[in-house]
Amino acid sequence: METTLRGVGVSHGVAIGEVRHMGTAVLEPPAREVPAEEAEREKGRARKAVEAVAADLMARGNLAGGEAQAVLEAQAMMAQDPELMADVERRIAESSTAERAVYDAFAAYRELLAAAGEYLAGRVADLDDVRNRIVARLLGVPMPGVPDSDEPYVLVARDLAPADTALLDPTLVLGFVTEEGGPTSHSAILARALGVPAVVALPGAGELAEGTLIAVDGGTGEIFVNPSEEKKAQLEAAAAARRAALSSSTGPGVTADGHTVPLLANIGGPADVPAAVEAGAEGVGLFRTEFLFLDDSKNAPSEEKQVAAYRQVLEAFPEGRVVVRVLDAGADKPLDFLTPADEPNPALGVRGLRSLLDHPEVLRTQLSALVKASEGLSVHLEVMAPMVADRADAKAFADACREAGLHAKFGAMVEIPSAALRARSILQEVEFLSLGTNDLAQYTFAADRQVGAVSRLQDPWQPALLDLVALSAEAAKAEGKSCGVCGEAASDPLLASVLTGLGVTSLSMGAASIPYVRAALAKFTLAQCERAAAAARATDSAEEARRAAQAVLSGE
Ligand code: PEP
Ligand code: MG
Repeated sequence: METTLRGVGVSHGVAIGEVRHMGTAVLEPPAREVPAEEAEREKGRARKAVEAVAADLMARGNLAGGEAQAVLEAQAMMAQDPELMADVERRIAESSTAERAVYDAFAAYRELLAAAGEYLAGRVADLDDVRNRIVARLLGVPMPGVPDSDEPYVLVARDLAPADTALLDPTLVLGFVTEEGGPTSHSAILARALGVPAVVALPGAGELAEGTLIAVDGGTGEIFVNPSEEKKAQLEAAAAARRAALSSSTGPGVTADGHTVPLLANIGGPADVPAAVEAGAEGVGLFRTEFLFLDDSKNAPSEEKQVAAYRQVLEAFPEGRVVVRVLDAGADKPLDFLTPADEPNPALGVRGLRSLLDHPEVLRTQLSALVKASEGLSVHLEVMAPMVADRADAKAFADACREAGLHAKFGAMVEIPSAALRARSILQEVEFLSLGTNDLAQYTFAADRQVGAVSRLQDPWQPALLDLVALSAEAAKAEGKSCGVCGEAASDPLLASVLTGLGVTSLSMGAASIPYVRAALAKFTLAQCERAAAAARATDSAEEARRAAQAVLSGE
């Protein structure tokens, strides 16, 4: 019998296939005493397993490229953490087996992380994944992870570790469904980068029986279990119509009546550029430079390394626009050399621009690398700061850009409600705004973006979030300046039309979403988008806002 479940759709498209669960068996090795004379051999086994797992993660990273690569490399570093290794060896010296010592050492480290606050949830999942891989290797059992299958399937998991999402083969993995994670979690961002339909925060996903036929709608977040023939035909027809509309949509972003809205790509580094170019991105609206810094959380990358990475990206868009965001460290992206270790609530602590203002040498190096990387190029370089709270922040950033001699537009991200409320005052210091709707939702609703249980409040259709977008866009218009969106909200085609109606001047998203958004925009006039935006803002919930906009745009 057909049943319908509802999670949060985070990556467009429809996938119909059988459920295959992720291999997540918790491998608890038995506690067994090892005689002292075998300790050295056990230490050698542990070291070899750690090295092999780190090498495997690096190799997966190389295969995956882009943002996924940086995440996998960070996991490889975790595996080789000298303090963890010293703890493993100490436990072996106290007569543990290699596998038990690894298991216990990681458990101790995990407890430290978990006690440090919920924001580290994503890191804990990464750490567990590394531990499971090392223990599986030591026990000689199959690696946890993506199931072995020659037939296409829908992958179901509690949460997907970056090591696994990076390896999802879009020709075999039709889509994925997870029990945890929110619309702006790391997994959701990676799913969009891969272009795989995905639904997250689905309660009870783990109980779907292996082999059950399900249909996943990554747009609406609906999962149809045992869909009827009629439902399958209906979903397939809708998906086919969508594909046809997509293949006929090319060129710049423009509404049906010719109002242009540049469609830009979100990237994590040079490896993401080919997909952006292929999707017809008119430039880059968000270059998350922190991925260059994740390789080594103890030191900043050298100026030369930064110049090379920036130059590669800038050269790819000779006449386009490239918006580089300076380092956004802290909270869910801590860096040892910047982020205080003992903050009670890191999402509200020294992160983003705040940590750069505390470490001006890091900002100076980054800006100087951008000056060098852009020399002699015709690209329109724009540089923006994350987590700008007020005019003083915006001024400090603009001053640093001027001192560095940067020939670029300077901008501020609107991620904190205070910045939206006082956008006009911020615009006295900078030339553009870019709405980071992921963090803006997190701070507006006091809802941690890593926590699945509060994903309802992370929904960018929330009317309060639309109000803040409208305030920012109106302020920019009044100042004759631009206001784009680079948060995940821009990748939802219906919402992209509403954002356009709210006065947003550009939309930046993962490359895979660009064709969907381009096709949606082309269907409606600016006046229709404005009516849809007004209807959405007149409601009291995300669900009503979505329905109201849909009703206006479908002429109901
Ligand atoms: C945002 O917060 O919306 C944003 C674009 O930045 P990030 O997702 O990297 O925090
Ligand atoms: Mg942000």
